[in-house]
Amino acid sequence: MKNDGSAAHGLTRGEAKEENAMIDLAKELKDVQSVAIAGHIRPDGDAIGSSLGLYHYLKKNYPEVEAAVYLENIPRAYHMISGVDEVRHEIPREIDCDLFFCLDCADEHRLGAAGEFRKKAKKTVCIDHHISNSGFGDVDYIVPDASSTSELVVRILDEEKIPLEAAEALYMGIVHDTGVFRHSCTSPDTMEMAARLMRRGIDGSKIINATYYDKSYQQRLIHGKALLESSLLKDGRVIFSYVQRETMDFFGVDTSDLDGIVETLVGTYGVEVAIFFYETEPGVYKVSMRSKSLVDVSRVAQSFGGGGHVRAAGCTMKGTACDVLNLLLPQIEQQLEEKDRD
Ligand code: AMP
Ligand code: MN
Ligand code: MN
Repeated sequence: MKNDGSAAHGLTRGEAKEENAMIDLAKELKDVQSVAIAGHIRPDGDAIGSSLGLYHYLKKNYPEVEAAVYLENIPRAYHMISGVDEVRHEIPREIDCDLFFCLDCADEHRLGAAGEFRKKAKKTVCIDHHISNSGFGDVDYIVPDASSTSELVVRILDEEKIPLEAAEALYMGIVHDTGVFRHSCTSPDTMEMAARLMRRGIDGSKIINATYYDKSYQQRLIHGKALLESSLLKDGRVIFSYVQRETMDFFGVDTSDLDGIVETLVGTYGVEVAIFFYETEPGVYKVSMRSKSLVDVSRVAQSFGGGGHVRAAGCTMKGTACDVLNLLLPQIEQQLEEKDRD
């Protein structure tokens, strides 16, 4: 198998921790009574899929372990995934947790309120594929060239013991982070994992349509508006659009309804980088960037305190929309010029 974790060695804190060796789940669960699972704030398909996939697997195969998933509000598109109604949104005041699984989360800060588990659980296992993750668990399994955290979770499970609900959630997670097996992070291993999950009996087509493609009319309208108002910059190599809070209010949509806009933008002829941002509160913007093949947008995002992957990254920035764009563009331009010179 291509990804045995060793590829990630140079990116972690380094010392003699057991990080990035394949996790032995049975060993980690020995003498463990309580497990908490959490993913990053504003959870996406991979954070939700990997968390619920692991949860269903533990429930089925380790019934003696008390497991719970903690995630922020889950967008409607994912409500067909089994176990969403069991996800907890409040962090307990008193935390008594033997083992904490931190999934799909590039840094501690991105855990939001669930960061308390990192502080108070007896042990933290961090499973992730963000290149910007420097490793903050007691045990880290970080593989930047894996398609998704869901793919990494599949690797640590005993395939024969994956229940249908877990297979559905994990397949959904892989589907989302690969953009339905389309992004460059999709490897032969990814396809093999997906095939194995399909063999557990899932309805892949239904999962893809319901969680990825189906949108509400309001979502279609705001997507249309963002596309209509997009601008081409830098000789058509950069495309940019943004949505203000008042526009979201007008259309009656929330931030998760804007998912997918940046992917559509980057698929424009001639475009190398797409920038899309929306206002989370006055003067604060959540930035999403996507790159086709030349620019490392993770580097750009990291320089503003964010992170992600080479081809998909994000950060939060303050100022006017104009300020945000003007801060991002020089770095992107510089990387494009470097590539032009190569
Ligand atoms: P997004 O544009 O929000 O879909 O994010 C693209 C990728 O970058 C995802 O893998 C995110 O988890 C990651 N990402 C987005 N925002 C941040 C951030 N502020 N810090 C670290 N990683 C981020
Ligand atoms: Mn994610
Ligand atoms: Mn992910």
